[in-house]
Amino acid sequence: MTKETKSQAALLKEKLIMEPKNSGSVMPDKQIQKAYDFCDGYKKFLNAAKTEMESVDYVLSKLIKRGFTEFDPQKKYAPGDKVYINNRGRALLFAVIGNKPLADGVKIIASHIDCPRIDLKSRPLYEESQLAMLKTHYYGGVRKYQWVATPLALHGVISKKDGETIPVVIGENDSDPVLCINDLLPHLAGEQNQRKLSEGIKGEELNVLVGSLPFKTEDSDKTTEKVKLNIMRLLNEKYDIVESDFLSADLSLVPAFKARDVGFDLSMMGGYGHDDRVCAYTSVMASFDALKPEYTWINILADKEETGSDGATGLDSRFLEYFVHDLARPYGISGSVVLQNSECLSADVSVAFDPTFPDVTEKRNTSYISYGVCLVKYTGSRGKSGTSEATAEFAGKIRRLLDENKIIWQTGELGKVDGGGGGTVAMFIAKLGVNVIDIGVPVLSMHSPFEVVSKTDVYNTYLAFKAFLAEK
Ligand code: MN
Ligand code: MN
Repeated sequence: MTKETKSQAALLKEKLIMEPKNSGSVMPDKQIQKAYDFCDGYKKFLNAAKTEMESVDYVLSKLIKRGFTEFDPQKKYAPGDKVYINNRGRALLFAVIGNKPLADGVKIIASHIDCPRIDLKSRPLYEESQLAMLKTHYYGGVRKYQWVATPLALHGVISKKDGETIPVVIGENDSDPVLCINDLLPHLAGEQNQRKLSEGIKGEELNVLVGSLPFKTEDSDKTTEKVKLNIMRLLNEKYDIVESDFLSADLSLVPAFKARDVGFDLSMMGGYGHDDRVCAYTSVMASFDALKPEYTWINILADKEETGSDGATGLDSRFLEYFVHDLARPYGISGSVVLQNSECLSADVSVAFDPTFPDVTEKRNTSYISYGVCLVKYTGSRGKSGTSEATAEFAGKIRRLLDENKIIWQTGELGKVDGGGGGTVAMFIAKLGVNVIDIGVPVLSMHSPFEVVSKTDVYNTYLAFKAFLAEK
């Protein structure tokens, strides 16, 4: 059989024209299987760590197993040394010292481990019409109507009056109760149906059902709100807390279900909090493959991204900057020299094209499910406002790195021009004088209780991070 000869135009097109391809058509079956296996580990992480605190605990135990020790700012570290900083149990920074001098710069991967959710208010518990309820304030950009009539689990910590902090997880074991936010029945939703979708469920309507039986007394007393009292009694028995302890608590409601395979071909994964634990997990796994690096690397799992990165555990605080300065000082070099020569992958998810809602994205520049890891040169909104656009040179360098390592990649942007937009932690790291580009996994139904990603995209993202950290 003679080989079919390609036409002149076909050859030229191959050479000159960019044609992103579905990873399923270019990845060997063996590698697709590797991606599926990799995602089994990711699934375990998603199910075990639904909050930033649980994510820190999960990764920290793996760091300690691999010989990472708590960073000592007074110490001069040598190549191969492995350190971490646990920032209040909500954010984690860990690093391995490379062979090259620090003045050559470091490699940073920054993702975030907080996810949109429903937080309890400071004084949440109340009784209304013989039902015990909790008041909430949602965290991050949630579409409120998506969080009603679905099982929720309560996660977090309570710092008690005596100073002891206790962890809380209710709703994850099959024997646990779950909590829920109720919605109207369609029969009586006539008025509600007239509301705009954004107000279909209002913020003050995100009230959580937690009990219905009153505290039983033999004597005939006139105590009011005995359903609330009964719930407080149960909580007191289980956790030794009183109502005022809710003020000193970080308690959040998250979806109670587990991550699952999605699709007849099992090619995708649905679950709570892919944004951005998918980049956290892939970067952690890539880091563990890079324990003898040429360049010193820093991996940051940040908190508070979903509310703007403010706060001591968010990346608009100085914990990364302080770490670099402290690391550099014993060598007699300035941290600012290190930072100016450093490079960062701002590892966060991107919006995937949804054929049901094609109008919000621009089809030539959006990312697609299963088309590989997504490079985003700029984010922001309305004329690139609030973006730290990567330079042509840095985007070029990362593009070459991906090509050289045969990683399947695509480009993306956060929706069509003037369609909305958003940002990542990139700008806060760029503020330190570091070259930064956004890169990550395309997501469907972003910020919903059940976000969807492609397994081959997850795997190519892991390979991208690995290649970045392995640079010679
Ligand atoms: Mn994100
Ligand atoms: Mn987000």
